[in-house]
Amino acid sequence: MISKPDQRQDSFEVHNPADGNLVGYVSRGTQDDVDDAIRISWEAFRSWSGTEPLDRSKILFFAARLVREDQKELSQLLTREQGKPIKESMNEIAGFARVLEYYASITGTLQGDYGFSKNYGHMMVVRQPLGVCAAIIPWNMPALIMGWKTGPVLAAGNTMVLKPSSTAPLTCIALAGHLYRAGLPESVLRIVTGSGGVVGQALARHPDIRSISFTGAVSTGIEVAGNAAQTLKKTVLELGGSDAMIVCKDADPEAAAKGAVSGRFFNCGQTCTSIKRVFVDSAICTPFVRRVRELAEALIIGDGLTGGVDMGPVHTGSQRENVHSLVQETVNNDQGTVLSGGYIPDTGALKGGNFYPPTILTNVDPDAPVMKEEVFGPVLPVSSFETVTEAIDLANSTRFGLGASIWTHDMRTISQATRDLDAGIVWVNQHLRIPPEVPFGGMKFSGLGRENGRYALLQYLEEKTILINP
Ligand code: NAD
Repeated sequence: MISKPDQRQDSFEVHNPADGNLVGYVSRGTQDDVDDAIRISWEAFRSWSGTEPLDRSKILFFAARLVREDQKELSQLLTREQGKPIKESMNEIAGFARVLEYYASITGTLQGDYGFSKNYGHMMVVRQPLGVCAAIIPWNMPALIMGWKTGPVLAAGNTMVLKPSSTAPLTCIALAGHLYRAGLPESVLRIVTGSGGVVGQALARHPDIRSISFTGAVSTGIEVAGNAAQTLKKTVLELGGSDAMIVCKDADPEAAAKGAVSGRFFNCGQTCTSIKRVFVDSAICTPFVRRVRELAEALIIGDGLTGGVDMGPVHTGSQRENVHSLVQETVNNDQGTVLSGGYIPDTGALKGGNFYPPTILTNVDPDAPVMKEEVFGPVLPVSSFETVTEAIDLANSTRFGLGASIWTHDMRTISQATRDLDAGIVWVNQHLRIPPEVPFGGMKFSGLGRENGRYALLQYLEEKTILINP
C-alpha cells in the first residue's frame, strides 16, 4: 500500500525495517487536525452514546468478522511496517478481532446499581460514558494495543481520537477502515497521524479530551500524565517493563527453556512484557542455559514476510544501536559474558535490515544496566540464585513492575511468589500470554490503571448518583 496523502498536507514515509523499502505515506497531523478531530468526535458523541448497547455490540462483532476475513492482508501490512514474522502478525490481527468480540459481548453489562432507603428514597447509580477519549499507541504491537483501547471506549458509548505511532501507523488506519465498513460512523473514531511532539502533546493537553490512554515509554508517559493533569483527564498509562523469569530447580526443564526463548525473542524482544531477565536456581543453571542456547540458535532470522522465519528485525536502526551498546557495555564492564549472538550482522540478506541475532548473556551482574533498564530487543541476560526469596528480591529490584513469572510446581513457592512479586501480572509456568478477559497493566514505573477485561470498561464510564425522594 503506497499512496500519498492529500498533497496539500505535509506527509512522512513509513519504511520496512527488514530492508528499508518504502511501505507507505501518512499525513503529518497538526494542532488544527487535532482540534477538528475532537470537535467532530464531540458532535458524534451525542448520537453514539445514545445508541442501544446491542447496536454497538453488533458493529463490533461485524468489524471483528471483517478483520478475520482480511487477516492475511492485514498481517502482511503489519509485518511490512513493523518487521515481525508473519505468523506473529496473523496472531496479533486475530487478537485485535478477539478483543473487539470480547467487548461486544459485555457491552451494556455495567449499567449501574440500585438501592432503597427509608431516609433517602430510591438510590441509583448510573454509569455514563465520558465523552471524547484519546489514545496514543506505540509501534511494537499496534493492532493489539489499538484493540485494547478502542474496544472498551467504543463499547462504553464514548467516541475516540487515536494517534498511532509514526513508524507503524498503517495497520491502525486499515483496522479503522474495517470498523467503518462494519457500520461505525467515521466521526466516532478519528485517527490523527503525526509526531508525538505535535499530535500526541495536543491530545494530552486538550481541554476537551475527557480521558487519555497512553502506551509507550516511561519518560513519554510521565510527560503525557503531566500534560493531562492540567485538565484533570482520567489517565491510563501502560509503560515499560523489565519482567523477570524465575526458574526453580523443580521446574520442567524443557518447558522452562522453551518459555525463556519464546518469552524473550517473540517480536524480536520488543514487547513490554517480554522476559527481560532470567534468574535460575544455581543447581540447574548450566543445563538450562545450554538448552536455551540450542533453542535460540535454531531460530530462523529474516524478513518476516518469508515463510518459516521466527524472528524479524529490530524496528529501527537507532534502537538496534541502543541494544548493541548495552550488550557491549555489559561485556566491557565485566558484568556478563556473551554466550551467543551479540553482534551486528554485516553480511548476506541480514545486512540491509535492522537485524540483531538472539543474544544470550550469562553470569550477568543483577545490577548491570542490561538487567535494570528495559532492553527493547533480543537480549536475554541470565543470572543464578540460591534461594527463592533471593530470586524474588532480585526480580523486584528494578523500578518496573509490569509482569513476572515463576517456573515451579511447588505450591508453597507459588504462594510466596504470587504474593511477593511486585508486578501487575504474575504467571506460573508460562509468560507473556494474556487473554482479553483479565486486567493488564503495571505497578511502580510500569504504569497507572489497567486495560482489558471489565476493568477497562469501568475506566471509560463515570458513575452518577441519583437520589429520588418519592
Ligand atoms: P514512545 O513513548 O516513544 O511512543 C509511544 C507513542 O507516544 C507514539 O505514538 C509517539 O508518537 C507518542 N509520543 C511521543 N512523544 C510524545 C509526547 N511528548 N506526548 C504525547 N505522545 C508522544 O514509545 P515507543 O518507542 O513507541 O514504544 C516502546 C515503549 O512502549 C517501550 O517502553 C514499551 O515497553 C512500551 N510499551 C508498553 C506496553 C504496556 O502495555 N505496558 C505495551 C507496549 C509497549
